[in-house]
Amino acid sequence: MPRPIEALVHPAALAHNLAVARRHAGGARVWAVVKANAYGHGIERAFEGLKAADGFALLDLAEAERIRACGWRGPVLLLEGCFEPRDLELCSRLNLWHVVHCSEQIDSLAAHKTHEPHRVFLKMNSGMNRLGFAPQAFRSAWARLNALPQVDEVSLMTHFSDADAPRGIAHQLAAFAEATADLPGERSLSNSAAILRHGAHPGLHNDWVRAGILAYGSAPDFPERTIADWDLQPAMTLHSRLIATQQLQPGDTVGYGSRFTAERAMRIGIVACGYADGYPRHAGTGTPVLVDGIRTGTVGRVSMDMLAVDLSPCPEAGIGSTVTLWGRGPGGALLAIDEVAHAAGTIGYELMCAVAPRVPVRVAG
Ligand SMILES: *Cc1c(COP(=O)(O)O)cnc(C)c1O
Repeated sequence: MPRPIEALVHPAALAHNLAVARRHAGGARVWAVVKANAYGHGIERAFEGLKAADGFALLDLAEAERIRACGWRGPVLLLEGCFEPRDLELCSRLNLWHVVHCSEQIDSLAAHKTHEPHRVFLKMNSGMNRLGFAPQAFRSAWARLNALPQVDEVSLMTHFSDADAPRGIAHQLAAFAEATADLPGERSLSNSAAILRHGAHPGLHNDWVRAGILAYGSAPDFPERTIADWDLQPAMTLHSRLIATQQLQPGDTVGYGSRFTAERAMRIGIVACGYADGYPRHAGTGTPVLVDGIRTGTVGRVSMDMLAVDLSPCPEAGIGSTVTLWGRGPGGALLAIDEVAHAAGTIGYELMCAVAPRVPVRVAG
């Protein structure tokens, strides 16, 4: 028998979450963001659940080829644009739309030979200070791009740094609005947090929203809001089984560094899952986990291939019991990836992207 750990992808949850994005998008078209191999779910595995999207947004040319190989003929957007001039040939061949965020990318386009002009998204740096033209340089970049015979339609784009946080979007929205006031073109501003939290903001107009993390069933603003608050469903389950149990006496310790000491007699289970599977090593004692669908917590340090769980709430559990690390457990029990991430000092994004290649992945259904 193979090691019992497995990840499941839930296409129905992806489809449900995408519909939630659409509901909040105020009529805008929806990009399903499938960068990082669909946030760890696998582009081909996620495609079925996300194909009701209006387009797919990603970073990698190889990922763009994969989404085309799935049979997708609609819009595909490269969120960081081209990394070198010859990438433009693949954009022409696969009909990829691409972001233009720096003048070097305009230079490459100006030198590119193509029969079909390209649809581009001109990106403004409205305060994130990662990619894009500063507001005062935006208009001249737009004019230069718009005059190129290699360019078809120019759309306008920016990205929010604090859509999930108290600072919010107003300062970036003001910079964007001022610098683009009389420019034509479709607009794309909102990521998941902005879609969910700022969808009704009067100054925010999107023709395209970019739905990433919410599609995968993680709340961008956890712990302030949970997936239940946003009506999102986990699109990934990571589960395994108990491969041993131990009876502890008061004073007994568990795992490397003896980081857990039993205060009373208790039974623990040993799970076939460790940090080499992508489970966070920084998840301390008490990180939530489901055993046979019953909620309990981890004890002691996570090791490479194993972790320990408290079996006090589930006396029936034994070798072979199902352990849900996150996602859907037996009997409809749910454990949001956000809760595990929070306990480990990280975010759902990182955990879903970090499931290790040694973990077999299956599409549920
Ligand atoms: C990753 C990314 C998104 C999606 O962000 P989420 O928080 O996952 O919704 C949107 N826009 C850009 C430019 C991105 O890089």
